[in-house]
Amino acid sequence: MITIDGSEGEGGGQVLRYACALSLLTGEPFTIEKIRAGRDQPGLMRQHLTAIEAACVVGGAECEGLELGSNRIAFRPGRVQPGDYRFAVGTAGSTALVLQTLLVPLALADAPSRLVIEGGTHASMAPPFDFVARCFLPVFERMGPRVTATIKRHGFFPRGGGRIEIGIEPAPLRRIECLERGDQVSRGGTVLFASLDGDIARRIRKAALKNLPGWTEDDIVLRELPADQGPGVALLLEAGFNHVTEVVSGFGKLGLSAEKIGATAGKRMAGYEASSAFAGPYLQDQLLLPMAIAGGGAFTSVKISEHTRTAARLIQKFTDRATRFGEDEQGRQLVEVG
Ligand code: ATP
Repeated sequence: MITIDGSEGEGGGQVLRYACALSLLTGEPFTIEKIRAGRDQPGLMRQHLTAIEAACVVGGAECEGLELGSNRIAFRPGRVQPGDYRFAVGTAGSTALVLQTLLVPLALADAPSRLVIEGGTHASMAPPFDFVARCFLPVFERMGPRVTATIKRHGFFPRGGGRIEIGIEPAPLRRIECLERGDQVSRGGTVLFASLDGDIARRIRKAALKNLPGWTEDDIVLRELPADQGPGVALLLEAGFNHVTEVVSGFGKLGLSAEKIGATAGKRMAGYEASSAFAGPYLQDQLLLPMAIAGGGAFTSVKISEHTRTAARLIQKFTDRATRFGEDEQGRQLVEVG
C-alpha cells in the first residue's frame, strides 16, 4: 500500500487525480492523507469527488473516505472496464480534470470508450476545453491512442452546466520526444462570452493585444454564446507551431477587471512566443504521466512548475520511474522521464 502526504509539494487536487490514475494503471492501492491541506477549503471538493468516483466506476475500484471535506481516502484499484460512461460534476468543477483521471487508463484498455462529462469547461485553475482539444490531445495522440473531443455546451463558473464528449481508441503508448516546437504557423484568439455586455469582451481583447507584439485586432474574434450558457467570459489565445499548439487562457470572475484578464493572458502568450520551448506551463505536468506509462519521453519546457515537480515525485512512487530536470545546450528546461 503506497502512502501519500497530500500536503506535499503543490499539495492540490492534482495529486489525488494522478494517484487514482496511477493506481488503476499499476494495480497498486494507496492511501492519501492531509488532502489539499494547504488550500483555503481543505479536503475533497465536489470536483475531486467526481473524479475519484469516476475512477472507481471505470476501474472497478473501492474507496474509503469518499465524502465532501474528507482529508483521507484509501483506494484499491480493480480492473479497468472500457465502455460508455457519463459523469456529472454537478458544479462548475472541471470536466477536463475528470478526463485527466480517466484518459490514460482507458487509452490502454482492450476496447474503445466514450465519455460524456458535465460540469465546467471554462473556469480558472483547470484546463479549458480548447487546451485539451488543441494543445494536450494532439501531443498525446502522437504516443499512439486516438482521441476525439467535442464540446456540446460551455460551462462557466459558478453555474457549470457544460458538456464535453470524448471518444477513446486505445493503443499501446510509445515513447516520444518533444524537443522542438518547429516554426510558427498560426496565431489567433477568441473571447467567448455569454449573457454579458459585449463591451467586456472588447475590453479584454484590447488589453490582450496591448501585450501581444505583432498581433492585430483581426487575430482575436469575439464569440457570443447563447445566453443560457452564461453568465461567463473566457479569453483563449492560440499559437500554432509545426509540432505543438499552445493555448493560453483567462477567465472572468467577480472582482477581476476585463483589463487584468486580457493583460495577464496576453503577457503569458507573448512570453511563450518569445521562448523556444515545446511545453508551456500547463502542458508540462499533464505530459508526465502518459510519458511515464509509455516507458519514457522527453520535452523542452518553459519554467518548471511546482505541479510538475509534485507529479514527478508521485509517478516515481508508483512506477519507480525518475524524472530528470535539466537544461539543454540552448539553455531551455529539459524534462526527461524514465
Ligand atoms: P486545488 O483546488 O487543490 O488547486 P485542483 O483540483 O484545481 O485543486 P490542481 O492541483 O491545482 O487542481 O491542478 C490543476 C490542473 O489543471 C493541473 O494539471 C494544471 O496543469 C491544469 N491547469 C490549470 N490551469 C490551466 C490552464 N489555464 N490551462 C491548462 N491547464 C491548466
